[in-house]
Amino acid sequence: MNTRVGTIGNASPLTADANPMIDPFGRAVTYLRVSVTDRCDFRCTYCMAENMTFLPKKDLLTLEELDRLCSAFITKGVRKIRLTGGEPLVRKNIMYLVRQLGEKIGSGLDELTLTTNGSQLSRHAEELYECGVRRINVSLDTLDPDKFRKITRWGDFAKVMEGIDAAQKAGLKIKLNAVALKDFNDSEMPELLRFAHGRGMDLTVIETMPMGEIDEDRTDQYLPLSELRADLEKQFTLTDIDYQTGGPARYVRVTETGGRLGFITPMTHNFCESCNRVRLTCTGTLFMCLGQNDAADLRAALRATEDDALLQAAIDEAITRKPKGHDFIIDRTHNRPAVARHMSVTGG
Ligand code: SAM
Ligand code: SF4
Repeated sequence: MNTRVGTIGNASPLTADANPMIDPFGRAVTYLRVSVTDRCDFRCTYCMAENMTFLPKKDLLTLEELDRLCSAFITKGVRKIRLTGGEPLVRKNIMYLVRQLGEKIGSGLDELTLTTNGSQLSRHAEELYECGVRRINVSLDTLDPDKFRKITRWGDFAKVMEGIDAAQKAGLKIKLNAVALKDFNDSEMPELLRFAHGRGMDLTVIETMPMGEIDEDRTDQYLPLSELRADLEKQFTLTDIDYQTGGPARYVRVTETGGRLGFITPMTHNFCESCNRVRLTCTGTLFMCLGQNDAADLRAALRATEDDALLQAAIDEAITRKPKGHDFIIDRTHNRPAVARHMSVTGG
């Protein structure tokens, strides 16, 4: 049985399915991350090889198809959507999808967010706000322009700073994400923290995950956040707080700056027990877990018929396969990552 949940603007009414997505472990799936492209204008060393082969453009779902898929998920109980990639803002006409999804806020969807490297933000910030986006994540691993170029290979630090300025001016709330990298930005964390909190932004630090072949040895980059936290505690007072954003970060309040600092620790802690999300790629493949290879092909069901019943059945079937958790273990014998696809395929 379906129940109508409302309409805004010219959007079609979305109907809530009385059969929401509950996985075999009793977790409700309410959060969808959509990687709208696997392409990117940066080549961060921990994320990609410099010479990446991307998906042929013909394999991509159209933005209309992505919109239809997202609507099916909202009908099935998704309340929050995050657009990611690759770099979401390099997908041609991406603002069309943002606008379509923005119209669903308050009509089944609670929140639409975005994770971006910031390179194109100055162009899009105002329109993002106008479409209903209120919070975004910007990835920033260093405040040193030379180091920034080194870690992103192709990125321009000044453009990202312009993007952050434009986003704040437009009224978007920013959370900075930094991947903690041994001997690269560990000593810079206090500065990054002061910068973020000084500008009213939360900061979240992330452990590197072994996903996809890159040009470097991941074990050289890996820094357990327990070490980073112990280091920060030499200068700052960190108090655990109960703050939740629907993501996997655990937060502390930093007394000296008054701001929040989040830790995402996929490697040293299992953050899976409260997992509420699934991830859709730009080809319509649904990954039920970031750290597992099992996936469901939703493109076939999407294209088979205009009627969403088949699609919703395919989503239901996929949710029955959501695993309890990930196991990111580097295959040390062959020095291969446990998950072969890059983070840019499923999105961070
Ligand atoms: N291009 C956008 C960006 O960088 O924000 C969105 C996609 S990116 C894949 C999303 C997040 O994943 C970024 O914060 C990035 O730093 C993080 N990331 C990429 N590869 C990672 C890895 N192997 N381990 C941990 N985080 C990673
Ligand atoms: Fe691009 Fe984001 Fe991956 Fe960096 S982390 S290469 S910006 S997708």
